[in-house]
Amino acid sequence: MSDIEQRLANVRARIEAAVRSSGRVAGTVKLLAVTKSKPANDIREAYAAGQRAFGENYAQELEQKAAELADLDDIEWHFIGHLQTNKAKVVARVAHVVHTVDKPDLVRELHKRLTAYGRTMRALAEVNVSGESQKHGANPDDLAVLLSAVESVQTLTLRGLMTVAPADDDVATMRAFEGLVALRDTHGGPARLPELSMGMSDDLELAIEAGSTLVRVGTAIFGERS
Ligand SMILES: *Cc1c(COP(=O)(O)O)cnc(C)c1O
Repeated sequence: MSDIEQRLANVRARIEAAVRSSGRVAGTVKLLAVTKSKPANDIREAYAAGQRAFGENYAQELEQKAAELADLDDIEWHFIGHLQTNKAKVVARVAHVVHTVDKPDLVRELHKRLTAYGRTMRALAEVNVSGESQKHGANPDDLAVLLSAVESVQTLTLRGLMTVAPADDDVATMRAFEGLVALRDTHGGPARLPELSMGMSDDLELAIEAGSTLVRVGTAIFGERS
């Protein structure tokens, strides 16, 4: 077994254990393998071990890897980085899912580009639940308008909410995850927002306990980023 294959198996086991100990239904948490700064060959190794969903943070890097890996035709690309409107074009051309929709202007730009490419994407709204100034994402007060904007365009399918929790301590982390769940419940619940993208290498167990459906894991699979 390669290192990546071994670590991927470990992460899958962690997810299954957390699902079980939370009393949740098996198979309700999906693993997104986060590959920023890692070479395309690492993605091939994870793909060979059965992984299909991959997350990238930078538009140019996503574009380059998608081109290098064009032969893997059932790969699913998720864009999880902060997205400026001037990079929306690249993401609209390549990604299947965008986790970081944070303002109506970006919705309009993605719609324009997707329309031009004759494509559609699934979309999650990123929320800055903890209110830390260095974090991206919509202010919870602006979420209603943002969600309506996503639903108003034909090229995006609203799927849920995403957040990055503070890494300070478990209490602050859990508060952010539970905050995202509460926002989901005040904005239509699972019927409107079935996906909650939350949890990373260090906090995926807490995220699953809180109700995550999509964990984004980099370091625990591919090792430290240089
Ligand atoms: C890098 C990144 C991850 C993965 O973080 P790890 O700690 O390496 O698992 C998850 N989500 C986002 C938004 C990221 O930028």
